[in-house]
Amino acid sequence: MSASAQPWPDECTGAVSLTFDDGVASQLELAIPLLNRYGLTGTFYVNPRDDYATQLLPWREAAQQGHEVGNHTVNHPCSKNFAFISDNNRKALEEMSLDDIEREIVEAGRRINEAIPEQGPVSFGYTCYQPFVGKGPTRQSYVPVVAKHCVAGRGKGERPNDPRYCDLWYLWSTPCERMTGAELVGVAEQAPAQGRWAILTFHGVNDGHLHVAAADLEELCDFLARNRHRIWTAPVATVAQRVADYQRSF
Ligand SMILES: [Zn+2]
Repeated sequence: MSASAQPWPDECTGAVSLTFDDGVASQLELAIPLLNRYGLTGTFYVNPRDDYATQLLPWREAAQQGHEVGNHTVNHPCSKNFAFISDNNRKALEEMSLDDIEREIVEAGRRINEAIPEQGPVSFGYTCYQPFVGKGPTRQSYVPVVAKHCVAGRGKGERPNDPRYCDLWYLWSTPCERMTGAELVGVAEQAPAQGRWAILTFHGVNDGHLHVAAADLEELCDFLARNRHRIWTAPVATVAQRVADYQRSF
């Protein structure tokens, strides 16, 4: 493959990944049936709890339908600046070491792999999009830890990803809570217009935190299904492996 070739399959000129965080119930109830109806697959970043064998049963079914069930750590650590961390005495990234975060990622990956053994390598969703541990003089990026254990990492950024230059272990995504259908289509349309990979991040659907309305998500799904000849919609791990091959080719 030459450096000028596109990494996308067939006649597609860009890629889109739909990602959903935190294993919210409305994703199982609304998002997955909706994606299935339109023949689309997405990435669902879950936190496998101690009862993961039971918790991940419906997610295994989703994986068997082609969706990716990705790694979002066990305990969802984030900055202590978030009240849900500081008020509840939860693990804060500022107080963790690289070894601590590695244990979180490895254990979540082990649990997902045990519950969904037929699934291939998965990507990582940075909790609260934050890729660091420590604070001030001791703050360090944990992107290398993700690169060691996962095929890709989804963070946050202002643009779709350029397949030539993007860091597969800190991919940029657009937070999509409360966007209208037209706004969602606008984000997706940047991908073919720019020859890039747009990643959209969702949480709850109709309810739950940082939600999007099901009707707006459906407008996006309808657009992606009607434009599948030019926009490749696939889970993060699937697109990342293709982009990795492409980056190795030049
Ligand atoms: Zn999360």
